[in-house]
Amino acid sequence: MASVLNVSGLTAGIEGKQILKGLSLEAKQGEIHAIMGPNGSGKSTLANVIMGNPKYEVTGGKITLDKKNVLEMQTDERAKAGLFLSFQYPFEIQGLTFSKFLHAAYKSHYPMEAMSLVKFRAKLKETAKPLNMGEDFIDRELNVGFSGGEKKRAEILQMMVLRPKIAILDETDSGLDIDSLKLVSQAIERMRSPEFGAIVITHYKRILNYLKPDFVHVMHDGKIVKSGGMELAQQLEEKGYSEILAETGIKILEVKD
Ligand code: ADP
Ligand code: MG
Repeated sequence: MASVLNVSGLTAGIEGKQILKGLSLEAKQGEIHAIMGPNGSGKSTLANVIMGNPKYEVTGGKITLDKKNVLEMQTDERAKAGLFLSFQYPFEIQGLTFSKFLHAAYKSHYPMEAMSLVKFRAKLKETAKPLNMGEDFIDRELNVGFSGGEKKRAEILQMMVLRPKIAILDETDSGLDIDSLKLVSQAIERMRSPEFGAIVITHYKRILNYLKPDFVHVMHDGKIVKSGGMELAQQLEEKGYSEILAETGIKILEVKD
């Protein structure tokens, strides 16, 4: 049975400011969803709330994964349950190499596999090949001194190795040059299987030239205001957010395109 992530009527905020205002979304294993929205619409807030970032306060609504209450789980439990978040701004961690970091995460995901560090490093190098990352990065400190593009590719590599049920990719495409964008999109496309679902958060339609989502959602002011297929992304490209939002009857005071 395909796993189902269900978000319903979610309200949440940060530092007393309400950002998500009754957001509902369902994503299943095997599906690729794109969430598009202007800056400040709450996309990163949604991603962080799904993963349990303690900075955000959930004030209402539900998040479930296969009917289990995600909001009651710690972040590491959410990860073990099969959720994954690729950060818009990945953290740098000094003193921890990429391979040791990911090996620890892998062991906690798959405790029965008894994967040694030596075996894991070989697997990591093999998995990294299509991302064109070079071999030295696995001995470098996590994200330290990585370029923007390398950080994003490192996030995708983590996803490929950990094989989440549902991955949330927060603007993995922003700041990528066209070659990195292709590599990253192809890597996500290659993950496509009945065991893998993704919510790809993006500000620009560009990534959707390479990655074909099954569903496209438009987010505005803390809610999903319109859902459709690829044709919706096309309309957004042609008309811009303001016009699409106006068609849904939403009065917009200001959209930061
Ligand atoms: P998006 O990812 O769609 O650009 P965000 O979820 O990052 O949007 O932000 C949504 C809103 O929350 C924005 O108006 C932003 O200014 C506000 N916001 C984000 N972080 C904070 C914070 N630490 N304190 C107050 N407001 C914040
Ligand atoms: Mg964001």
